[in-house]
Amino acid sequence: MPVLAAAGIIVVLALVFGPSWWIKHVLKKHGVERPDLPGTGGEFARHLLDEAKLPDVKVEVTDQGDHYDPMDRTVRLMPQHHDVRSVAAVAVAAHEVSHAIQHARGEPAFQRRFELVTKLIWVQRFATGVLLLAPVMFILVKAPLLVALQILAAVALMGIGVAVHIVTLPVEFDASFGKALPVLEGRRYLSEQDMPAARSVLKAAAYTYVAGALSTLLNIARWFRVF
Ligand SMILES: [Zn+2]
Repeated sequence: MPVLAAAGIIVVLALVFGPSWWIKHVLKKHGVERPDLPGTGGEFARHLLDEAKLPDVKVEVTDQGDHYDPMDRTVRLMPQHHDVRSVAAVAVAAHEVSHAIQHARGEPAFQRRFELVTKLIWVQRFATGVLLLAPVMFILVKAPLLVALQILAAVALMGIGVAVHIVTLPVEFDASFGKALPVLEGRRYLSEQDMPAARSVLKAAAYTYVAGALSTLLNIARWFRVF
C-alpha cells in the first residue's frame, strides 16, 4: 500500500507541476537574447497591432504574466518579452496580439471564454473563502465531517477552474496556431531554423492558463497542511 500511495503522489505532483515546469523551461530555453532579430517583443506586438488596424490597443510591460486584457484592450508582456529580442519574445507577442484580434473581430469562442473566466474569478474567490473558513469551523464546531465537506466543496469549485480552461483551450490554440503561426511563417519575421522553437513557444503559450489552473489545485494541497 505505501508503494501505491507514493506512486499516486508522484503521479499527482507530475500532473500538477509538470505543465508549469515545461512552460517555464520552453520560455527560458528560447528566451536567449538574439541581437540579430529586428525588434523586441514589445516593438513586435506594436507592429502587429498597427498592421491589424488596431492602433488603439495598447502594449504595456507587466510582472503579472503575459496576457491580453479585454477590459483595458491592452497587450501586457513580461519584461523578458517586452524589452528583449528573442524567439520567445516574438512568439509570445504574436500570441497575445492574436487575442486582441479575436476580441476586435468579436469571435464568439473568445467572447464565451471571456464571460466564463469573468465568472470564474468569483468562483475562485468563493472557494478560497470556503477554504479559509475551514480551520475556523473546526475550532468552533469540532466536526471533522463538516470541515471535510467544506474542503471537498472548495476543491470541486477550484476543479471547475481547471475544467473551464480546458474547455476554452480552442481559443488558445486559435491564437497560437490559427493566427500567430501563419503570420510568423508567411511574413518571415523569423528564419526557417527558428520556426521549430517558435512553434514550441506558441504551444507553451496556449497551455499557460491550464497550467496556471493546475497550480491553483497545488495551492489547495498547501491548505491541507494547515490541519
Ligand atoms: Zn493566450
